[in-house]
Parts: sequence; C-alpha cells; structure tokens
Amino acid sequence: MLKINSDRFLQSLRDLSTIGATPEGGVTRYALTDIDWQAREWLKQQAASYGFTSHLDAAGNLFIYDPEIDVASPPVLVGSHVDTVPNGGRYDGALGVLAGLESLISLKEAGAPLARPVKLAVWTEEEGSRFRGGLVGSRAFIGEVPEVELNDTDAQGVTLAEALRQWGLQPEELPQVASKPGQVHAYVELHIEQGAKLDFANEQIGVVTGIVGIRRYDVVVMGQANHAGTTPMDMRRDALVAAAQMILAVEQTVKKSQYTEAVGTVGRINVEPGGVNVIPGKVEFSLEIRDLDIAAMDALSEQILQQLQEIALVRGVEVSFEHTAEVKPAPLAPAVQQIISSVAEDLGYSWRQMPSGAGHDAQHLARICPTGMIFVPSVKGISHSPQEFTPDEDCVRGANVLLNTILRLAGSL
Ligand SMILES: [Zn+2]
Repeated sequence: MLKINSDRFLQSLRDLSTIGATPEGGVTRYALTDIDWQAREWLKQQAASYGFTSHLDAAGNLFIYDPEIDVASPPVLVGSHVDTVPNGGRYDGALGVLAGLESLISLKEAGAPLARPVKLAVWTEEEGSRFRGGLVGSRAFIGEVPEVELNDTDAQGVTLAEALRQWGLQPEELPQVASKPGQVHAYVELHIEQGAKLDFANEQIGVVTGIVGIRRYDVVVMGQANHAGTTPMDMRRDALVAAAQMILAVEQTVKKSQYTEAVGTVGRINVEPGGVNVIPGKVEFSLEIRDLDIAAMDALSEQILQQLQEIALVRGVEVSFEHTAEVKPAPLAPAVQQIISSVAEDLGYSWRQMPSGAGHDAQHLARICPTGMIFVPSVKGISHSPQEFTPDEDCVRGANVLLNTILRLAGSL
C-alpha cells in the first residue's frame, strides 16, 4: 500500500489555515474574494514546485494535474473546496483539497504508471456563504448554473457575474465549463464528517453511501388572537399551543419510524402578534426532512402532514403547508464504496458505511460519473466553527485511503 508523506501533508494543512485565519482560531475565506484568490495562488505555487500545471475555468474552479501524464483517457477527479463559512473550521474542504494534492505528489514520487490521468479540482463557492446558491463550481461543472443566478448578489450588492469578472473570468463562458458525458472516469472526495457518528463509535473511516435529500415546508397555523386575561381556557384557539403539539409530532413521527437515519427538524418559528398578554393567533414554522431514500422522505412527509392536520382539527385551528425546497438524495456508486472499504481494510483502518447529512460537491458529480466520498471523524461532531477539529492521525488515515482509492480507480498500466 502506498502512503502519503504525513509531515508534508500536515504542514500544508497548517499553512493553508493561515490564509484567512481569524483571531478565534478559525478561517474566513469567502468565495471569489482576494483571500480565496490567495489560497488558490498558494495552491498553484505548491503544485508548480512539484511540476504540476494549473488551470482556472470560467467558474473559478482550479484544476491541478501532471502535464507529463500523456494519456487520453478520461481522468479520475479528486477534489473539494477552500471557501468557508464565516469563522469556519480549518478542515472543512481544505482537508480534501490538500489530501488530493498530496496524493498527486505521492503518485508522482512513487512513479506509479497510471492508466488514466488524475486531476485535482478545487470547486468554487461550495458553502454558499457569499452567493446563497452554494455548490456553484460543481454545478457549473455539470451544467446546472442557470443564467439568472449570475445576477445573485452578495451582502455588498456585487453580483456573481461581477465577482467572476473581478477574477478575470468571463461569466458568458460558464456554459462551456459543463463537462460532456463520459468526460470524467470517476470522482472521489475526502471530507470531515461534520457529525459525531465516527467519533462516538470510535471508528476511523466513513464510507459514504450517499448524500441525503432535503425537503422543506413552510407551515402556517391560524388560530384566533384574543385577550389573554378574559378568554377562558376552553374557549381558546391558540395557534402556538397547537404548533407546539405539531412540533412534538414531527419529532415523534421521525423517531418512531422504520427509517433509522432519517431526520426531521423545526428550526424556525414566528409567533403573531407576539404579545405577553395576547393569545397567539398565527404561527409560522419551518419543517425540514432529510433522508438518503426518496421513498422514506415521501412516507415521512405524508405521515407528518397528516398528523398536523389531525392536530389542527382537534384544536380548532387551521393549518396550511407550502413546499419550499427540494434537493434529491444522491446515492454514491456502490463500486466506488467497495474500493474505499477494501482500501481501508487493507490499510488496517476501522470503517463503517454511513450517509452524509450535509451537502457536498460530490452530490453533483455523482450525476455524471461514479462517485465516492471518504469521511474522517470530527471531534464531538463540531463543524462550521473554529472548534472544528480532526486529529492529525485521522487526517493522515483519510489521505492514505484517498491516495489508494485514486490509485485503484486510475488503474495501473
Ligand atoms: Zn465542506
């Protein structure tokens, strides 16, 4: 089994985390800003010092590859992102990019004769922290950034098109970024779990089975606002008490269901009129359901919406729903999962299969080529925070799994 150079790899993780470092020990690197550019320039320099070539496409995606591998076959792509959430962690995205670069270097140093080229992709605006659509680079790569999205603005009123132009890119060329069918042999991404399953189970490697789908609703409960002092308890149509019961029903329905990985969340609530001495007349709340299986999402949303209607009936309030967002689940290729788990096995690492509850660029790549994801533990499941932490040994294990997965995907001559 090939191994990466762990000192060099861990040093690169520390070096990249200084670009956009915050006083709290986190990182702020918004997409398509000067800081993001600095991170890309640093990557290009690293790559050049090992004899690699870099190329920036019209979406700002940075590709790094060995110009000496003169094989016409479709490449194995490996990648992740370097943009972050405000005051985010040092590992989210950066780990996958740097493990990808380290894998390229290790393959070159080992002189492994590959049947296919390997390319590192650094995707643009994964987080959606500056331009809310998120996953912009990987969507451009599969031809799914609609023209209207170029008019989306950041907090300063700068459009996505303007931000691309400030980097010397031509937004009109965005459609040309889209890869054609068969152009990519396979895609693999190493990422921190951002949840606590591996850490709590004391396991080293997560073999990702897929990226969960997301369904969101806005729920409105209409009761009757009235005087809190003069309206007897049995004459009330309290929208908030009904909503409270509905929120509990969401939790119970998901917990009691046969779908053990499914999650249901009410994360936002608004009460009107919102006075201490007024019975709430109207409540709006969000409802979100996530699972890897679209049938489970369908079954759960149907059960939940039916329960909310029953509660409304009993409580004499009215309830209405609006389906506001839908992201389809993205199952990952069983063949790539098989390679990742056998690599982990051969390296002597413990591993488990698991879905990803968070979105990743891999969910889009999965639509055009066989795709796999490797997770390493996030201590206490903390992410999108300066406290985000993955021990050095876990970072190295993840990179070793990535390297050998790439090697098997690229195949030897
Ligand atoms: Zn990420």
